[in-house]
Amino acid sequence: MSPEPTRMVAAGTPLIDSHCHLDARAWEDDAGVDAVVARAHALGVTHMVAIGSGYGFESANRACSVAGRHAAVVASVGLHPHDAAEFTDERLADMLALRGGIANVVALGEMGLDFHYDYSPREVQRAAFRAQLAAAKELNLPVIIHDRDSSGETLTILDEERAFDTGVLFHCYTGDVAYMQAITDRGGFISIPGIVTFKTGETMREVAARTPMERLMIETDSPFLTPVPFRGRKNEPAFVGYVAAKVAEVRGVTAEAIATTAAENTRRFFRF
Ligand SMILES: [Zn+2]
Repeated sequence: MSPEPTRMVAAGTPLIDSHCHLDARAWEDDAGVDAVVARAHALGVTHMVAIGSGYGFESANRACSVAGRHAAVVASVGLHPHDAAEFTDERLADMLALRGGIANVVALGEMGLDFHYDYSPREVQRAAFRAQLAAAKELNLPVIIHDRDSSGETLTILDEERAFDTGVLFHCYTGDVAYMQAITDRGGFISIPGIVTFKTGETMREVAARTPMERLMIETDSPFLTPVPFRGRKNEPAFVGYVAAKVAEVRGVTAEAIATTAAENTRRFFRF
């Protein structure tokens, strides 16, 4: 049995989960989502970015709904590469129209390329990705990137679409140090997930140690990638302090220092 989670940073420290799926499909219903938010608050999580992507087109709606219910939650809207086969210009327009309903839609995404699972054909993934980047440019919004085994093509497309002008965050970054440097040299941000606590997370710890402090964020990617010592449980934003603590350990600083800087970076990037 895993221990009861505790608060990993001192009271008064800002602590932000830069990427979580507070989707009712992951948490049974709205009440389930609200309980997850309450547990995060109880462990010192000050803000959460609810990702409106990854559970089909309707996830944008649901992320906006949870952000509308909680002042501490901001939302993104987007289409995950897994769902790219569902993409049409009309659906993109509908999704972007959600922004009119609430004030706290702060980004587009997650979007990008996933050539590991290839759930949608690659040509379709590329087209959906480029269309969303164009929209972000037009709306002057930053983008949240999902990149899995694209062999650098994600970065090439970001360059071609001049996405770094309006802000790029690689969430759940799983590349190596050299790719991280290519991203941060362009002004991009890197978000470190709970993999940093895994026995197999050696590369992730190296990246966490070497990412420039002013380019670093932390996340849970809940309900996935639960950090140690809660493996086997569903991941939730309440555990983001454990990511902060591990990043702090590999950098030889305090968890408070990591949480504070990551929170500042997150607010600066998403402008909330
Ligand atoms: Zn995600």
